Amino acid sequence: MQYQPALWPSPQWYLKKFQPDAPVLYFAPDVLQATAKRFLKGFDGFVTYAVKANDDAAVLDNLISAGIQGFDVASPAEILKVRAAKQDAVLHYHNPVRSVDEIAMAVGHGISSWSVDCSRELEKLADVPRRDTEISVRLRLPVSGAAYDFGAKFGADPDQAVLLLRQARDMGFATSMTFHPGTQCADPQAWAVYIVEAADVARRAGVTLERLNVGGGFAAHRSGQAPDLEAIFDRISAETARAFGDAAPKLVCEPGRAMVAEAFTLGLRVKAVRGDGSIFLNDGAYGALTELRDIGLPDRVSVVRVDGRAASGAMTSRVVFGPTCDSLDRLPDPMPLPTDIAEGDYLLIRAMGAYTASISTQFNGYGAQDVVTVAAPWEQVTGI
Ligand SMILES: *Cc1c(COP(=O)(O)O)cnc(C)c1O
Repeated sequence: MQYQPALWPSPQWYLKKFQPDAPVLYFAPDVLQATAKRFLKGFDGFVTYAVKANDDAAVLDNLISAGIQGFDVASPAEILKVRAAKQDAVLHYHNPVRSVDEIAMAVGHGISSWSVDCSRELEKLADVPRRDTEISVRLRLPVSGAAYDFGAKFGADPDQAVLLLRQARDMGFATSMTFHPGTQCADPQAWAVYIVEAADVARRAGVTLERLNVGGGFAAHRSGQAPDLEAIFDRISAETARAFGDAAPKLVCEPGRAMVAEAFTLGLRVKAVRGDGSIFLNDGAYGALTELRDIGLPDRVSVVRVDGRAASGAMTSRVVFGPTCDSLDRLPDPMPLPTDIAEGDYLLIRAMGAYTASISTQFNGYGAQDVVTVAAPWEQVTGI
């Protein structure tokens, strides 16, 4: 992903001046830093960033300047990226499945927390130096509230988590638990249910948790009202105090999406408007819009003309295709767009910093993503 350090006022300003034909991610570092500070101020514990949401060097640098010191990494490549940005960053390796070679590489980089969800994965860590090193047992429960469920792939059921906690303690590690309520989760109750169960697992195991990592999952503002992050932070603190009482662990969180989404606006261009009303964009299901199949369409979308003004006609639902020659390259649902949308217009989609560049492919020669730094990810413009 290219990083263009020049600072332009806004996406609207940039597209009017340069009329880019390729997709552009407009990055507002100030918004990213403000979000990081919001987490640091509002969350009563250690805030780490889940690197997979967006591993761009400029993102890591801005998070570090804002005061983020810990990172959830899931692969050797992510470890190297974080180490390049901050030599002494705190690293949590919270992908619960790791090869022996990956573990050896990671040990050399001083991982301070490892998540596990089965006893074979814990055995693989037998030679990891114990000093200041934590094992975080990943719990899974049938909890709803998120866009999709992370428990489908990782996590130990409560009975198994009891055994793993004891095993980790007996091996001499510091003990912790973790969970992930599922991504784009706007319901504080999802965290509450997990916290209550984690306290119960710790009691049954007879293990005092030093920390509880409440995962990521915090929702980005994709549609409707902005999610109330502080309400979730408060609920997490209150529920932890209630469920653990005197044995309350220190809290950790590892947001990806909610940390980085709002700092980027995705700018796409209309390549064609077809006779049947469908439109073709210059990026789609193999690029920055990959995730929409699983989490649905955002509604913070505006259509902007080449002169930078907003289109404001009545809305019509349109089938939207991406640029590749694959018929799967189509958005999951029709998208409401102005009736008079035309070839050459731009779509500006807000809060697209997470899981866009990081999962985009180069399939069919598309998926290019220039990053343009802007002062603000959005400019209020009057309609035509
Ligand atoms: C992906 C992931 C996160 C971040 O999830 P978001 O929904 O983007 O906040 C945090 N922790 C773990 C272990 C993850 O795999």
